[in-house]
Amino acid sequence: MRAVQHDMAAVGVALRAGLALSLVAALASCAAAASHTKPSADALPASAVARIDPPTSALRIVNARLIDGTGAPARTTSVRIVGDRIAAVGDVPPLPGDEVLDAHGLVLAPGFIDTHSHADSDLLEMPEALAAVSQGITTVVGGQDGDSPFPLADFFAKLDAAPAAVNLAAYSGHGTLRDHVLGKDYKRTATPAEIADMSRLLESDLEAGALGLSTGLEYDPGIYSSRDEVLALAKVAGRHGGRYISHVRSEDRHFWEAIDEILTIGREAKLPVQISHVKLAMRSWWGQAPRLLAMLDAARKQGIDVTADIYPYLYWHSGLTVLFPARNFDDLAESRRVLAEIAPADGLLLGHYLPNPAYANRTVADIAKERGEPPEVTLLALIHDAEALRAQGKTDVEDVIGTSMVEGDLEKLLAWPHTNLCTDGQLDGSHPRGFGTYPRVLGRYVRERGVLSLEEAVRRMTSLAADHVGIERRGRVEPGAFADLVLFDPATVIDRATTTDPHALSVGIERVWVNGKPVFVNGAVTGLRRGRVLRRPAAAPADHAGAVSGAGPR
Ligand SMILES: [Zn+2]
Ligand SMILES: [Zn+2]
Repeated sequence: MRAVQHDMAAVGVALRAGLALSLVAALASCAAAASHTKPSADALPASAVARIDPPTSALRIVNARLIDGTGAPARTTSVRIVGDRIAAVGDVPPLPGDEVLDAHGLVLAPGFIDTHSHADSDLLEMPEALAAVSQGITTVVGGQDGDSPFPLADFFAKLDAAPAAVNLAAYSGHGTLRDHVLGKDYKRTATPAEIADMSRLLESDLEAGALGLSTGLEYDPGIYSSRDEVLALAKVAGRHGGRYISHVRSEDRHFWEAIDEILTIGREAKLPVQISHVKLAMRSWWGQAPRLLAMLDAARKQGIDVTADIYPYLYWHSGLTVLFPARNFDDLAESRRVLAEIAPADGLLLGHYLPNPAYANRTVADIAKERGEPPEVTLLALIHDAEALRAQGKTDVEDVIGTSMVEGDLEKLLAWPHTNLCTDGQLDGSHPRGFGTYPRVLGRYVRERGVLSLEEAVRRMTSLAADHVGIERRGRVEPGAFADLVLFDPATVIDRATTTDPHALSVGIERVWVNGKPVFVNGAVTGLRRGRVLRRPAAAPADHAGAVSGAGPR
């Protein structure tokens, strides 16, 4: 499924490209143009370059329809990239040695910043990150839903040593901290001493560059935490200049209390709070997006910096147990309510299912029919068998895609000015969002349904996303910013991934650059891996920039 091509030289890629790329001149040096840009340490061992500026390639992209990420109207212009930075925007004259790429009027935008991604640990095994780069993503933000690599310092060091094609930033996950402190005895509230221990672990992650604290309060072990526990940890994040991002405690039955909880945390811990993958995922709440947005707007008026991210699908992806917040898997009446209120049996599609692999890619309705039993009985039985394997120490036992949302709510939540886009996806997951999110928004919600203008949609994917998670110098096309860019065709861009073909590549994403280097060209990855770890600016090592591939201010 992955069209990975290793070891392909950038020039070779360029020659294969359908877009006209002319190497105007093969002059060796263009150092004059690089005077205000730090030379990139890419491909050069820092110790070897000493104080001699390496020859820095420059690329001018001309005839681009520039959408700069700020929401400003598109304009036809050119952009000059030197090393890893955008050196100039506008109709600057070509300089000797510049490569010139004619964009033929395609849209050039900042690379998309995925503020809720599950790509993090998979990046070590799938560094080309086809799922991400093929939809224009240049930065993924991991450590989501309370689950982060531990400790983050070690994970960051691994990525520094073996970079991926995309940049990565991460939150410190509350569930991960809780696992380390409470261990197997987690089905209870934490003691003050345990909260203090978690705070210390959180502080080390924050010092390593975590963006802040993430929680997954609908999942084990986060679901067993008290509001006070989360508040205490959020205050630690706030004191370090970090943020709070949360898969809230309930996305269905107790949704409104869960929203109250995140707003309380924003108010009392005095830090920006972001609702992960905002949705109304229960029949009784359908149509109540205006009620939710009124609550959030009122909170913002009171000074709470609450924002949200969203993915453009009516179905989520998780495990089966999340459907039962009381974790009572013998409650037949509750099982019936789940199917009536949260997702119908034919809207619960198993991805993989370890206890019986033959159930993969089938719905609970379908399996129930085969077993000759009511679907509410089947649902409980499926969970029981999955739990039995988990009790034996098995992990990643099952996954399920559940259809719980409606279009009207999705469009209203998407249109809220403080909502940015995310995938909530994996690099090889069974939900199509992992491959399709951004082209789907640009094709379906911008071009076809007109929910957002193109400029506004791009803003939600870039500068707003960067601002919501605290990433600097990315998400805007302006001189001095890092050259993370995507070139796409607004007339054709669309997702192709579906639940039956979740890894199908999108259409219309023509070319993607990360830190000035092409990572995706003409439907294939280039093999270049110039992604960086983006540490929270205050936590960035002061004079350590060379060790992280020339990363300066972020
Ligand atoms: Zn989540
Ligand atoms: Zn998630």
